[in-house]
Amino acid sequence: MHEYSLACSIAEICRETADAHGLITIERIVLAVGPLAVVHEETLRFLFDEVAQEYGIGRPEVVFSYQPLSVRCRRCGSEKAIEPPELGFREIWHNPEGAPLPTRCDSCGATEIEFPGASRFDVEGIEGEIPDDAAGD
Ligand SMILES: [Zn+2]
Repeated sequence: MHEYSLACSIAEICRETADAHGLITIERIVLAVGPLAVVHEETLRFLFDEVAQEYGIGRPEVVFSYQPLSVRCRRCGSEKAIEPPELGFREIWHNPEGAPLPTRCDSCGATEIEFPGASRFDVEGIEGEIPDDAAGD
């Protein structure tokens, strides 16, 4: 299961970050999700709750930060961000209700476009608590 391995990687990153920074609790995790990342939020939340216990990181709040679609033209170099449509893009989940992805550059009309970071799924931030005696640093 794809989401299960994602949940484990996130928990692992949390564990490592907590160890590296001496965090005693992890309160909040922010995940950056590209507009074309194939991640099912509900499934991942459910699995992460389970996995987090095993990794001993408690029950942090998980925030999904959905990123805009970035369109970059390989011919003229223009780059612009498009807010993801409410129903998502057609290309993920074979979603017939979604909007089609752009096929041309807005500025020059070239079809040599790419979507940098569209499939990204990263841990963007981890917030936690450090022990009181270290708080003054
Ligand atoms: Zn262009």
